[in-house]
Amino acid sequence: MLAENRTVLLSGPDVGPLEQEYVLAALRSGWVAPAGPDLDLFEREIAARVGVPHAVAVNSGTAALHLALIGLGVGPGDQVVVPTLTFVATANAVVYTGATPVFVDCDPATGNLDPQVLAGVLDTDASVRAVLTVDLYGSCADYGRILPLCEQYGVPVVEDAAEALGATHRGQPAGSFGRAAALSFNGNKIMTTSGGGMLLTRDADLAARARFLAGQARLPAEHYEHSEIGYNYRLSNLLAALGRAQLCRLDEMIERRRAVRDEYAKVFAHAEAVMLPGGDDPSANCWLTGIVVDPDRAGWHVRELAGHLAARNVETRPVFKPMHLQPVFAGATAYLTGAAEQLFRDGLMLPSGSALGTDEVRRVVDAIAEFLDGRP
Ligand SMILES: *Cc1c(COP(=O)(O)O)cnc(C)c1O
Repeated sequence: MLAENRTVLLSGPDVGPLEQEYVLAALRSGWVAPAGPDLDLFEREIAARVGVPHAVAVNSGTAALHLALIGLGVGPGDQVVVPTLTFVATANAVVYTGATPVFVDCDPATGNLDPQVLAGVLDTDASVRAVLTVDLYGSCADYGRILPLCEQYGVPVVEDAAEALGATHRGQPAGSFGRAAALSFNGNKIMTTSGGGMLLTRDADLAARARFLAGQARLPAEHYEHSEIGYNYRLSNLLAALGRAQLCRLDEMIERRRAVRDEYAKVFAHAEAVMLPGGDDPSANCWLTGIVVDPDRAGWHVRELAGHLAARNVETRPVFKPMHLQPVFAGATAYLTGAAEQLFRDGLMLPSGSALGTDEVRRVVDAIAEFLDGRP
């Protein structure tokens, strides 16, 4: 197919010769199991990168969130604060424990948990057992405000850093906030093991318990002894090898995504009604870049731009549909300001992958410029 016609993907995987080399070496080593030297090294290398002592590799980010919540003792009857603007996995992990998510709205400028709304919730609802924060689209939540607030009320924090590996907040890496954090290595994330995740924590007991539960809660006996229900959440050694190769390239991939964001910032620089949420965060990993368009000021709706790009084989995606609008969470308690609904309605995520070629980015930017050209 002609390069001009090939679909420009939102966030495709970025793998090459280094990944092939690592996976082939792991395969040849004979460690074709959810155990092996690449797994041990992958955990150590991620822990070192994020600056936390304990990392437990698992087969998804969702599993890491589930184990983190169990590690905090969250269970049936508990309420857990979840940002309404997130991917459904954040809320699902809460439900897996038997607890109930309580949805809280976001800061309209960043899309991350609104600390002011959170303060109100913690002040009035004494049944909140934990707070899950999300580093949305690769930009850290406002931990400078959220952590002291949660500390004041004695409520532990779990960080959903699935999208944010490599980002920082006031110099501190994503994945190092709260009692425990979860990373995702799903195929569309900043780096991938094709599917996988990691639980990070400073709490040695929490890490040991997560590791135990991830391996079917098997007690150290030859004859398969079990005294409680566990999960099959371990990551394959082959996939850990893929992760190790990706980690070598993480900084280069982040640089690429930042360069893509800079191109979008340039093409929208004179469109006053267009905002890049979190666009002024220099420590974001720029996993996905999106725009929010005020249709009244702009004179056009963001869906018109989406249609224009789709006709030119450019993939875009709406901002996550807020959890309180999802049929599965109908009737859930939600503390709302309207910010998440507005970002959902007026937002659009643009192709942001590190595997995008210069020519592909050019195609998208030219198509946007063409769209803007005919408008006020
Ligand atoms: C991707 C993602 C997850 C889940 O990760 P998986 O590895 O797909 O299970 C959780 N939370 C957020 C915010 C995500 O983007």
